[in-house]
Amino acid sequence: MEFIDLKTQQAAIKPQLDKRISDVLAHGRYIMGPEVAELEKTLADYVGTKHCISVSSGTEALLISLMALNIKPGDEVITTPFTFVATAEVIALVGATPVFVDIEPDTVNIDSTKIKACITSKTKAIITVSLYGQPADMDEINKIAREAGNIPVIEDGAQSFGATYKGRKSCNLSTIGCNSFFPSKPLGCYGDGGALFTNDDTLAQASREIRVHGQSKRYVHTRIGVGGRMDTLQCAVLLAKWPRFEWEVSQREKIGADYTKMILETVPGARPMSAQDFEGPIDTVRTLSLRDDRTSVYAQYTVLIPHREAMQARLKDAGIPTAVHYPVPLNKQPAYEALCKKDCQTPIAQFISQHVMSLPMGPDLTPEDQKQIIKVLAQKE
Ligand SMILES: *Cc1c(COP(=O)(O)O)cnc(C)c1O
Repeated sequence: MEFIDLKTQQAAIKPQLDKRISDVLAHGRYIMGPEVAELEKTLADYVGTKHCISVSSGTEALLISLMALNIKPGDEVITTPFTFVATAEVIALVGATPVFVDIEPDTVNIDSTKIKACITSKTKAIITVSLYGQPADMDEINKIAREAGNIPVIEDGAQSFGATYKGRKSCNLSTIGCNSFFPSKPLGCYGDGGALFTNDDTLAQASREIRVHGQSKRYVHTRIGVGGRMDTLQCAVLLAKWPRFEWEVSQREKIGADYTKMILETVPGARPMSAQDFEGPIDTVRTLSLRDDRTSVYAQYTVLIPHREAMQARLKDAGIPTAVHYPVPLNKQPAYEALCKKDCQTPIAQFISQHVMSLPMGPDLTPEDQKQIIKVLAQKE
């Protein structure tokens, strides 16, 4: 069994893939070829934003969004410590200070009720992460940001493309949405790629220029930029995958919901994670929560496990791969610890990071494989 099965998808779209790739080989416009604009239009229409700017990776999308917002040394950017390192890395790269706000124990997304107390006169942006595929409390966060003087909100939607929040699509929930097309993401290409989404014309223009070395016209460099384009071939791969994406999203929702249902029904003692559990050691499997007003695309299906290493070993023996997203909150990582404010306390992220374990997931996970995973998870130690 594979942790993320990409082969079944490839077999299903092989003819379109071959056609799309050979079209690019025939026209030869490997950089900024027609597939780039076609993909940007397709994705902007899907999420409902005015602009989509494709870039070379999800990390680059986050970096370019901070550059477009003119985040500078001395500024503070609020974010979650419980995420992939890129979210905080880009803050440090532009010379700003990441301010880590603790997470909710049951969704493991940033706790919106704790943000306001961390806003200072230096706060120039908030980066939320739609972790494992579920958006955070975006309306509450947008409201806090607006009331604090229109602080821009960036959604790191690298794990949530296709998810919804109150009927609106991830990446269209705040000032800027960022996505990653890393192969294993919900919409992945065959290499690196990413995109920024926004309804703001000025930010869109700035991002387009920053993507090509801050260039407004050929050899006119109006601002400092990066080499951040997405290549035509990767756009062609995504266009070949696109007709299947909607089905994949519904598969992901179903498989994720089935996981939760099956775990709660068959794993002895399993129950949803609650705030109370956080006060003491957990003794049996806990499922994470999906809020009623949103959907998740389950980039990862993740549970909390009392004795993680033993469970991972047992699953491995049964041929079932697992992963840990993420073992250490970023404010405890060597490179970030020194950057953190002295009073940065994230006890919930600390606790959660010791118990998370992700199970095989993807639109092509078979019901048989899923049953097998649950069976091993439910076995007595
Ligand atoms: C994958 C990921 C990124 C980075 O995307 P790349 O395309 O690999 O640069 C950023 N943030 C989160 C939450 C991610 O999961």
